[in-house]
Amino acid sequence: MKQGIDRREFLKLAGVGGAVFASGLYPLSAQAQAADDFFFVQLSDTHWGFQGPPNPDAKVTLKKAVAAVNSLDQQPDFIVFTGDLTHTTDDPAVRRQRLAEFRDIVGELKVKNVRFMPGEHDASLDKGAAYQEFFGKTHYTFDHKGVHFIVLDNVSDPGASLGEEQLAWLAADLKQLAASQRIVVFTHRPLFDLAPDWDWATKDGAKAVSLLMPYPNVTVFYGHIHQENHHTTGHIAHHAAKSLIFPLPAPGSQPKRAPIAWNAAEPYKGLGFRGVSSKKADLALVEFPVQKA
Ligand SMILES: [Zn+2]
Repeated sequence: MKQGIDRREFLKLAGVGGAVFASGLYPLSAQAQAADDFFFVQLSDTHWGFQGPPNPDAKVTLKKAVAAVNSLDQQPDFIVFTGDLTHTTDDPAVRRQRLAEFRDIVGELKVKNVRFMPGEHDASLDKGAAYQEFFGKTHYTFDHKGVHFIVLDNVSDPGASLGEEQLAWLAADLKQLAASQRIVVFTHRPLFDLAPDWDWATKDGAKAVSLLMPYPNVTVFYGHIHQENHHTTGHIAHHAAKSLIFPLPAPGSQPKRAPIAWNAAEPYKGLGFRGVSSKKADLALVEFPVQKA
């Protein structure tokens, strides 16, 4: 796929199969508020600071991804990073150094409306303390063109839970919304049990899903599993994004979770980022490579 696509090409792509996942997520679109079209980009699991054979190009991969986003002909309304901005370290000073370097590199994005959330690599060893120094709150909401976005933190708790306090906050936030409100949730781990043995689950994720269930227009975007995955719980669609450091195997496809080896013949295979186009009341997903094959 060509790296830079214009809006017309994007909409054309969004109408066909292949790399595009046209979700048709909003069955009650006729009742939904008339919302303006918009486009956002999701990047995930950049793991800045990682070094090792699964990505011998790790020092430049994030910079290449930033350049790839900057080269899109249609610049997004906003960009979201769904966690694991940095690779884990036991050293609090190194953690802060990595967060600072990450912040500086993504500061080169042309689009300045950028949203962040932590992954367990950023936050689980200090309950999000260093992350918050750089990026602020780990759970929050924002609104854009008629859509209510909710960022959930299922990583600052080392037990991989949202916790009662955050669930109560979520319940209170949802309570103020009309039933027809379009809602998009961003989180790091899956909210459902994708592969609990591999830490691909949120202990109390089912509680969040049940709070969201009364709302017919909900979509969840997450990261953590370093590959695309599309799953539904009832009417709620959950979409995992690719990583920008190394891909991981399909859930439960092998005994141990381990990075897929770097292939020098096909560098960057399995890495990429996602564009999400909201048109009328539907979302369309398109997957972009970090560099052209
Ligand atoms: Zn993670």
